[in-house]
Amino acid sequence: MTDQLRTQALDWQLYEQAKNYALDYMQTVLDRPVFPEAEAIINLAAFREKLPDQPVDPYRVLEKLHQFGSPATVAQTGGRYFGFVNGGIVPTALAAKWLVDAWDQNAGLYVMSPVVSVLEEVCEKWLVDLLDLPQNTAAGFVSGTSTASLCGLVAGRDYLLRKNGWDVSSRGLFGAPEIRVVLGAGAHSTVYKALSILGLGKDRLIQVPTDEQGRMRADLLPELDSNTLLILQAGNVNSGAFDPFVEICSKARAADAWVHIDGAFGLWAAASPRLKHLTAGIELADSWSVDAHKTLNAPYDSGLILCRHRDALTQALHMTGSYIIYSENRDGMLYSPDMSRRARAVELWATLMALGRFGVAALIEELQQKAVYFADCLRQAGFTVLNEVCFNQVLVSSGDSAQTKELLKLIQASGECWCGGASWHGNDVIRISVCSYRTTRQDIDRSVQAFVAARLVL
Ligand SMILES: *Cc1c(COP(=O)(O)O)cnc(C)c1O
Repeated sequence: MTDQLRTQALDWQLYEQAKNYALDYMQTVLDRPVFPEAEAIINLAAFREKLPDQPVDPYRVLEKLHQFGSPATVAQTGGRYFGFVNGGIVPTALAAKWLVDAWDQNAGLYVMSPVVSVLEEVCEKWLVDLLDLPQNTAAGFVSGTSTASLCGLVAGRDYLLRKNGWDVSSRGLFGAPEIRVVLGAGAHSTVYKALSILGLGKDRLIQVPTDEQGRMRADLLPELDSNTLLILQAGNVNSGAFDPFVEICSKARAADAWVHIDGAFGLWAAASPRLKHLTAGIELADSWSVDAHKTLNAPYDSGLILCRHRDALTQALHMTGSYIIYSENRDGMLYSPDMSRRARAVELWATLMALGRFGVAALIEELQQKAVYFADCLRQAGFTVLNEVCFNQVLVSSGDSAQTKELLKLIQASGECWCGGASWHGNDVIRISVCSYRTTRQDIDRSVQAFVAARLVL
């Protein structure tokens, strides 16, 4: 078998074939329904086979993937996908990813990949600068914000307990001093998940009420102390709203609490002179989680944990082993829960290079402007926009919950565009996330037409 693989490794035609399929995909994906057609989904049955006993010809493997896989993808690289908060993919980053795939580096240690170690270091500096965070803020390159928040919260938990003379990594949480966890009522579900994994519980949290946009009410903030882990949000997952950081973070600083900000898609507002007002005060926090694969349009999977206290992060995540060789250089595994990791920082580097500082700002600002345009067009067409469109999210309704839900089904089935749904103040709403550089005003006009056409059928 390994002889065969060695021969295949030098079969340049195989990689050409993969490239041609990819190009074919990119050239046709924009002309087909945004969500795969029923037939494409039915055809996925082709994959439900027994694991073959014998090796399958590599060309056949690729062909099968392109024949049955490509048509059943969601066309989120196009301009009319508005589901969840899923970003597009910057061309330079996609191309760089192909090259990096050929490298197949392990980003765990400097000695496993000097180039990745250096590019992580470079990205760290650029990000701190771009987002205007405190000097010496550390960055860890993880799979997404779920993991990034987990890292920020574990760093905070351990830091608070250490101040109390409790080393949680050796003694565990049994009998440890209590930590108070304070968060907004609109916190993302991944924050709850992280807290439950970390042994901080889901039921003993202090939830601060939010205003009608989903922002934490600063006037209802409980007393904070030096045992408090406070979790804030830059970009509510439905409305896009930002917590009032200046007021809340100043109080937290004074109380010596640890502040983590979930800024999965919203933190990038800090990179735009026009939108920076939304993130004013974030520099007072201790840790931040953000995705590069959402509004920045870097490829999946790319999340970042940023932490003001480099030691707190590395102490919480570090490990040792007789064969592990730490170096004078950056060892990526100190900043992430994983040891082996793919070289995702290279794609982030390529994204940032391709955009430059002004390009990042322009990308983020254009997403916001397009969301405002989308909302204006929908209002003109007689729909109700329920949120202040401060960033890239638009919440829409058409009559009552039942009508809105029906409308959403029809829009999704149209293949013209794809939006998700959410519950907002107890009502079903349609949720639009303008998240890709690929979206044009024509895409938005066409999508609004799809809304109007669906309403006619209702
Ligand atoms: C998307 C999102 C997350 C989770 O991020 P992943 O990259 O999917 O793990 C957390 N918080 C908010 C506000 C989000 O939008």
